Amino acid sequence: MSPLKRVLIVGGTHGNELIGISLVQKFERQAVLLRRPSFETLTLLGNPAAIAAGTRYLDQDLNRCFAAETLAKTDDPAYEVGRAQAIHRTYGPGGQTPVDLIVDLHGTTANAGQMLILDSLDHFTLALAAHLSLLEPAIKVYSSADSGRKRDSLRSLAPYRLGIEVGPVAHGTLQAQLFGQTEALVLAVLDYLEAYSSGTPYPAAPLLTLYQYVGALDYPRSPEGALLAMIHPERQGQDYQALHPGDPLFITFEGDPIAYDGPETVYPVFINEAAYYEKGIALCLTQKQTIVVKTDAVGSAAGPEPI
Ligand SMILES: [Zn+2]
Repeated sequence: MSPLKRVLIVGGTHGNELIGISLVQKFERQAVLLRRPSFETLTLLGNPAAIAAGTRYLDQDLNRCFAAETLAKTDDPAYEVGRAQAIHRTYGPGGQTPVDLIVDLHGTTANAGQMLILDSLDHFTLALAAHLSLLEPAIKVYSSADSGRKRDSLRSLAPYRLGIEVGPVAHGTLQAQLFGQTEALVLAVLDYLEAYSSGTPYPAAPLLTLYQYVGALDYPRSPEGALLAMIHPERQGQDYQALHPGDPLFITFEGDPIAYDGPETVYPVFINEAAYYEKGIALCLTQKQTIVVKTDAVGSAAGPEPI
């Protein structure tokens, strides 16, 4: 990677996820917190109209509006499409102030704790995650790389990107502990980037536990799409915990358990996320992997490979 010039911290890509929104607003009041000598850090409230309305979005999910064909549309009346195009013109490649790395802040009703979302397993991103994991061992690292999803998220505008997802927190509400943890994570990312840019060695966990996305399951539904079951009480809040074939997963409104009938043990995340009911997702399935993070001298990672 050529030297980092510009980083963008984004909150409010979803307008009712208040931790990221309030943190970006705090950073805008106290810009000194973001200042580092070797690069510039900008902030962005992703979806201001949805923030004002207190909803996830007005017309459609902004975080699905950044595919090339959506950005090329000329007559789409959806607010979020126009907003995505404006963000792309400003921060995207070839934009007014193109950014090298986007940190996108989200909140979830699922029991995510502090989750890093990696869209790519390039060396630079892995070394960053390994560093943050060493600072805060409770962090979980989720990989959506190779998930088959096209590059349509806001952070896909930048060559390097990191999602931070914290929970459980009800949409439309704040939670002080998660707010503080999110702030500490963002500042640790900036400190890492400063050390990286100035060639200072930094410590990194040699092994990283990765929850690799392998698929998603919807709730049992009627042919018309009505819900027929809920998350089983034994599974509620059990994000990152092993789900074996035959384990109870759902429970019907009549009280009958429904077992997980997949072929192998998986590690669910985003269990019972409120915003995913409309997407037909009851939980995401991951495989738990341990990867070795390559480092050279004293914890200093070698330069990142291009994506
Ligand atoms: Zn979100």
